[in-house]
Amino acid sequence: MNFKNDHFLERIFSLLRWFFLVVAGIVYVFYYLQTKEDTWRFALLLGFGLLYMGTAEWVLLRAPRRSPRYSAMTKLAVGADMAAYIALIAFTGGTSSPLLPIAYLIILHASIYWNVRGGILTALIMNAACFAITQLQPADGGPDRLLYLALNSCFFLLVGLLGGLIVARERRYRNEKRFYQELAKRDYLTGLHNHRAFQENLQTQLRLQKPFTLVMADIDHFKKINDQYGHITGDLVLKQVGHLLEACIPDKQGTVYRYGGEEFAIILHTQQEDAANRLLENFRNALSQISFESIGASFGVTMSFGAVIRSEEWTDDVVKAADLLLYSAKKQGRNCIVWGVANR
Ligand code: GH3
Ligand code: MG
Ligand code: MG
Repeated sequence: MNFKNDHFLERIFSLLRWFFLVVAGIVYVFYYLQTKEDTWRFALLLGFGLLYMGTAEWVLLRAPRRSPRYSAMTKLAVGADMAAYIALIAFTGGTSSPLLPIAYLIILHASIYWNVRGGILTALIMNAACFAITQLQPADGGPDRLLYLALNSCFFLLVGLLGGLIVARERRYRNEKRFYQELAKRDYLTGLHNHRAFQENLQTQLRLQKPFTLVMADIDHFKKINDQYGHITGDLVLKQVGHLLEACIPDKQGTVYRYGGEEFAIILHTQQEDAANRLLENFRNALSQISFESIGASFGVTMSFGAVIRSEEWTDDVVKAADLLLYSAKKQGRNCIVWGVANR
């Protein structure tokens, strides 16, 4: 179980809710239940608690995690917790209630969704509720009670502030980590997935025994383009070829990587030569219609391809096989696709 994700925390909050329902029930029945009115009040609160907690638990376990239902329920739960808590405090002695510290958990829960703003706002609502409850209850402790209320208000606010700050900091680190992880797998020039991403994804495909076709694609006589028009034009050609490859190979059909230099790798999620060939021919056709411009001249670019359909037996040498086929395409005069089957 991944204990770092929000769902795990939600599960903990949900379990704590059940725990506090039992604790609050025992505290109320043994220490505060006196009149018939108290019994009704208790039954009503318990009914509300069971209904809402049952619904929350159901959504938590059943609804897909990114669904609007899941997101709405987890956020609504913070509001419902607050309402239930305020009623509970009012019925169990106000600010002297033994259940008062539950507020810290509710404030922390709010800070998970709304950071510092959520933590402070919830703390302020709790403070206002405690203050109102104190005002409505008969005075019993004079200045002590006020001191208790004031200190409590400070603690609520501090927990809201610190909880919110910790969550905001953790979120920032998480987002930064995601950003840099993504950056580490992108090629700076073309924006395509890079060699590292290719090796990782290829290993995943092999480990999961997914059906795929591997294509190694290389720009023909690219050195001449550099020599004739300069490296900046060469870079622009690489960029455009990369974009065109991505446009011609939709995500559903496969992924394009910059393998290195003027070489690209394509993993297609099919083993049907017909389907794979159609995608490659579409690309070749689109490339043949592009006219690259540089220093008043325009020129076309062609590419050679080595395409491997994995054999019945899985092989680790699929890249080597595709490379050999690409080499063979070069030898056959370039601007063509050579097909093969990878064997051990
Ligand atoms: P072939 O048809 O046999 O593939 O010939 P080629 O000229 O394309 O292949 P060769 O391996 O001789 O040359 C590749 C050139 O690609 C050499 C290198 O300077 C150039 N190159 C590699 N990476 C980059 C890059 O990022 N930008 C630019 N502009 N050129 C690059
Ligand atoms: Mg080349
Ligand atoms: Mg090359």
